Amino acid sequence: MSEDLLRKSSRDKLAKLEVQNLRRRLINTIRSSNGKVLRNSQELISFSCNDYLGLTHHPEVIKASQDATYEYGAGSGGSRLVSGNNPLNSELETLLAKIKGTEDAIVFGSGYLANLGVIPALVGRKDLILIDELSHACLFAGAMLSNAHTIHFKHRDISELAKLMTKQRKSYQHCLVLTDGVFSMDGDLAPISALHELCKKHKAWLMTDDAHGLGVIENGRGSSVVDGCAIPVPLQVGTLSKAVGAYGGYLCSNKETIDLIRNRARSLVYTTGLPPGNLAAAIAALKIIRTNIELTNRPLALANKFAAYLGLSPPKSPIVTIQLGDVERTMRGSMELEKKGFLVVAIRPPTVPVGTSRLRCTFSAIHTEAQVDAFAKATKEVLAIQ
Ligand SMILES: *Cc1c(COP(=O)(O)O)cnc(C)c1O
Repeated sequence: MSEDLLRKSSRDKLAKLEVQNLRRRLINTIRSSNGKVLRNSQELISFSCNDYLGLTHHPEVIKASQDATYEYGAGSGGSRLVSGNNPLNSELETLLAKIKGTEDAIVFGSGYLANLGVIPALVGRKDLILIDELSHACLFAGAMLSNAHTIHFKHRDISELAKLMTKQRKSYQHCLVLTDGVFSMDGDLAPISALHELCKKHKAWLMTDDAHGLGVIENGRGSSVVDGCAIPVPLQVGTLSKAVGAYGGYLCSNKETIDLIRNRARSLVYTTGLPPGNLAAAIAALKIIRTNIELTNRPLALANKFAAYLGLSPPKSPIVTIQLGDVERTMRGSMELEKKGFLVVAIRPPTVPVGTSRLRCTFSAIHTEAQVDAFAKATKEVLAIQ
């Protein structure tokens, strides 16, 4: 009887999604090393992948992962605080801190878990969180878990944030400002310098999520570097699953804060450490990112080429979005491109606000110039009939 109720409740919720054209389905997709994917028996060139540098298939990365798996086993065997702290964790953390120019770093199971763990460990009921309204879902989830008073500020709006600070800051003990470094669904950048200055003035802590920055912005150094100059952002979260091509998340910060997180972040304490093969893959990938500027600059160069062809303003990251507004039109655009041999996923609510559905194209170093040209031409044709 209660089982029937559960089934009915789920069915009703799904039906509602179906009506709004918002029901999602998992589609088996086999990625290969040349940027192509196999989906529904059709070969497509993918412009929907976060593997910005093609490192998921890089021979050195795969070899490192294989070697570590043979040496240490497929899984880590426990929480890092119990028996799962393979020494590769420290090697990876030292490397991340070096790349980000911070004193220390800590690795998590994923970027999502990093945000869920870090935010509640730093702020609580007596504190204030100010968060850019277009930040990634896991920053909002972390803010909710913290129970801090949370206010959303308009996307990239420094003057609104300054007003909120002036009005609200004094009523709270600590203040944490949260933002994506590169916005995951828009591809634009947070105004890091201005945010840093404002936070300094109001004794607030700035935390950026650099998931889409590391490896592809500013010679691969990430979004806390602005015009070649590193801004000392005190809390830098990110992922190992995008340009780094592996899996996992991290926080880079000062020694004491990292030590606190090691002790207090629940998504670190109460979960299993990353598999050794994955840690080794991330280390190998980061070493490539550190030394290969030609590789790290290529995705943005290709994005620029595409945007120029379509008459779009020059992108700041390898994410280029074409806003089509309503869900149906966006789904149709994606389907038309698929017919022409290109995979571009339609992004729709709740991932983005209602009325801002879009085609989100991501460019990777593994794309050839010819592939990008063909994609730009096809996109122009599809948009013309929309
Ligand atoms: C992708 C993404 C995450 C999630 O990272 P995972 O490692 O995949 O969990 C977090 N924040 C932002 C801004 C992202 O784009």
